[in-house]
Amino acid sequence: MKRAVQVRLYPNKRQQELLQKNFGACRYLYNRSLALKKYAYQKFGVNISAHRLIKRLPTLKERHPWLKEIDSQALQQSIRHLDEAFKHFFRRIRSGETPGFPKFKSKKHKQSFQYPQRVKIDGKKLYLPKIGWIKTKGLRDDLVGTIKTVTISYEAYRYYASILLEIEAEPIEFVREPIGIDMGVVYAVIDSSGNHHTIEDYSPRYQKELAKLERYQKTLSRKQKGSKRYQKAKIKLARGHKRVSNIRYNFLHRISHIYGENQAIVEDLNIKAMTKSAKRTIENSGKNVKAKSVLNRKILQNGWSLFFVLLEYKTNHNLIKVDPKYTSQTCSRCGYVDKANRISQSRFVCRSCGFTINADVNATKNILARGIHGNNARQQPKVA
Ligand SMILES: [Zn+2]
Repeated sequence: MKRAVQVRLYPNKRQQELLQKNFGACRYLYNRSLALKKYAYQKFGVNISAHRLIKRLPTLKERHPWLKEIDSQALQQSIRHLDEAFKHFFRRIRSGETPGFPKFKSKKHKQSFQYPQRVKIDGKKLYLPKIGWIKTKGLRDDLVGTIKTVTISYEAYRYYASILLEIEAEPIEFVREPIGIDMGVVYAVIDSSGNHHTIEDYSPRYQKELAKLERYQKTLSRKQKGSKRYQKAKIKLARGHKRVSNIRYNFLHRISHIYGENQAIVEDLNIKAMTKSAKRTIENSGKNVKAKSVLNRKILQNGWSLFFVLLEYKTNHNLIKVDPKYTSQTCSRCGYVDKANRISQSRFVCRSCGFTINADVNATKNILARGIHGNNARQQPKVA
């Protein structure tokens, strides 16, 4: 079983310089290799393998001696990551899609690089090859297992390490009772047993942090670009974003844990995004509302994708994804399908059998039925 742990790093001045060199070098190598692969592919239709790129590393180091300061494994790993991006790209082409080419890494975005091995932990300190022992916060001393990878990142002017551990699986007795789970238009989770979890229940600070973000954004827009105050406001905003995303992550983590002993059944997000999202935005009038809702939806979708990954893992791969078509319009008691069944955002009254239920819970009951009886459990006796 794998387990991920994230800790904050407190590198000293010299270590900070070295870390920045690592980010720069791995980004340089990634972009350089990408340009090469792109050229070869577009000009000759061939794919240069990671193996060949890695074999060229010593020659490249002779030409750019500053690369010698960087851990070889970390450099190789950035080439492997690029290879993954290409594999994904080709997979999508094969399945008939028209994906964009893998993108160049920018200095402006979150910086990261990865060690595939040779990282050590001792108490509260983390040892990184060629950089040394770094002070950390958040490392538990009862951490057991083998380190698989360690990703170092730089975000909102802070350093983090994400450690992936392989731990011996604890024997868990799964009850495996199937349950239908659906997500709201805000951070909220509803299930077919009628439970409702909102992010506010788990973090009273959430709304406050969101309000703060808006304030920070406003403050930033009033400062002169490039000035010291602007820089300060920017850091504040970035940290605010980090706090909000932490709250969201913790929420999804705790909710997914609740369903760990179930067989979770959810709507297939990929199908859902295609059918539902376009509609919802058109219903909103006004440009700002529209832009905002598009953004919110994106954040939600990212959140839910993460939620599914967590569920998959917590339920020990007992996650089933079903066709989301008409789940909100179908009566979970008699199967009658009609848009008019849903009389408001929250109320569902079946026009055929009179069944009255919370609209979200009704949808999760349909999701549950499809998970148990297959997608065709969508009985369609009388479509209006
Ligand atoms: Zn009915």
